[in-house]
Amino acid sequence: MFKPFAGASLLALAAATAQADEDVTHFRVFVGDHTAAQVTAFDLATPENRWQFATTGQAKLFAVADGAVVVAVQSDADAVHFLHSGITMESHGDHSDIKVAEPKAFDAGLTAPRPFHLVDHDGKVVINHDKGGYADVMDSAALAKGTVEPVKFPQSVAHHGFVTPLGSAWLSTVAPPAPADGSAAPPRLGLQAFAADGTPAGDLAPCTAIHGEAFSGEYLAAGCREGVLTAKAGASGVDYRMLPYPADLPAGVTTGTLLGSTAMQMFLGNHGPDGLVVVDPADEPHFRRIALPFRRVDFVLDPAKPAQGFVLTEDGTLHRIDLLGAAITASERVTAAYSMDGHWNDPRPRLAMAGDELLMTDPAAGLVRRISTTDLSELGTIAVGGQPYNLTVVGGSGLDH
Ligand code: ZN
Ligand code: ZN
Repeated sequence: MFKPFAGASLLALAAATAQADEDVTHFRVFVGDHTAAQVTAFDLATPENRWQFATTGQAKLFAVADGAVVVAVQSDADAVHFLHSGITMESHGDHSDIKVAEPKAFDAGLTAPRPFHLVDHDGKVVINHDKGGYADVMDSAALAKGTVEPVKFPQSVAHHGFVTPLGSAWLSTVAPPAPADGSAAPPRLGLQAFAADGTPAGDLAPCTAIHGEAFSGEYLAAGCREGVLTAKAGASGVDYRMLPYPADLPAGVTTGTLLGSTAMQMFLGNHGPDGLVVVDPADEPHFRRIALPFRRVDFVLDPAKPAQGFVLTEDGTLHRIDLLGAAITASERVTAAYSMDGHWNDPRPRLAMAGDELLMTDPAAGLVRRISTTDLSELGTIAVGGQPYNLTVVGGSGLDH
């Protein structure tokens, strides 16, 4: 159960929200600690407005329901907790209304066997339970109201995968049965359409070791050994298309993580540990690779400038990526080196966007760094303490009236 154990200044909050009918820009940052079972939230402009929430274990954080809800997925602790972010954005057509209140933990959470990938698509939030052989499907609008009423989507074999709605279908990754002798599981097989009760509704689309789902425009994309698989809702079911890695890309490396642009139909993925690839799901060339000088620590897309992304490499350098040109356009040292040798889950920085700033956790320094997207200069730091690790940001600009 989430329990707030520190309060923020109500006066400061009241002051920030008292000016009715005014332009309000308000970003709130949620940071999970690497080791301590807790999430710290603070307002970016006034970080003394701060809250802490106890979790069961280390949390990966996802902003869902247009940022009204933050989901804390705790894979190693078999737990999922939910928070009202306190910031709601409502579209009024020509402008958005923003309302700011205190963040608050839900009373209800989930307990499940190794919750992992979370998909937020088409009004549904779906969490795959890797050791449960099912996913929990929740309604975004209900979550925004504080209601957690998951519906189970059953899978034939428990595996590290994902489930998502796509048009009128449900898509799930498919894994082969685990070997009876207890040896390592063979790679995942691909993607398949199902009815909501888990009954197959289409043929398997092969995509060996499928991983790293993302959405952009009409497309879902995921990485495979043989290429990137795309899927979109067609006139008669799901249209799949395998985009094989071109021969002029380095051989033997693959894409396993993708980010989807919200304003252009385009994906940015990894290609091996020291490469990125811009993937156009519709038009040639489908792949344009960007070689990085060192291995990648984390990368993000800039929702405010859709042709722009950022990647941090293990030498502590942040690079700005131009997706249209598939090129690095600026590089600046922003932190100490964080070697990618060692465990994948060792404490290393994570990136998130907040308007025209990029935020980066710096676990070794106990900080969140604020970095200008214009010139990659440091705008300031926010001391969080502990080992700040995963983060998510909610909020934006709107009218309060
Ligand atoms: Zn309005
Ligand atoms: Zn994964």
